[in-house]
Amino acid sequence: MKISNIRVVDDDINIVACVGDTETGAHPKVYLNIRDEGGKIECYYCGKTFMYKSKVEKK
Ligand SMILES: [Zn+2]
Repeated sequence: MKISNIRVVDDDINIVACVGDTETGAHPKVYLNIRDEGGKIECYYCGKTFMYKSKVEKK
């Protein structure tokens, strides 16, 4: 797993949109319900992982 491929999002975000990027290539726009997944979700097109800020930072 590529640990660098993580996109940090604010904790109040419910849905994230992904269209890929220049590194992994573009793909059709998808919406991922990060809240339903408990604050961490992986895009099934490009494998990018979206994670809540609170999951990443240790406080
Ligand atoms: Zn994606």
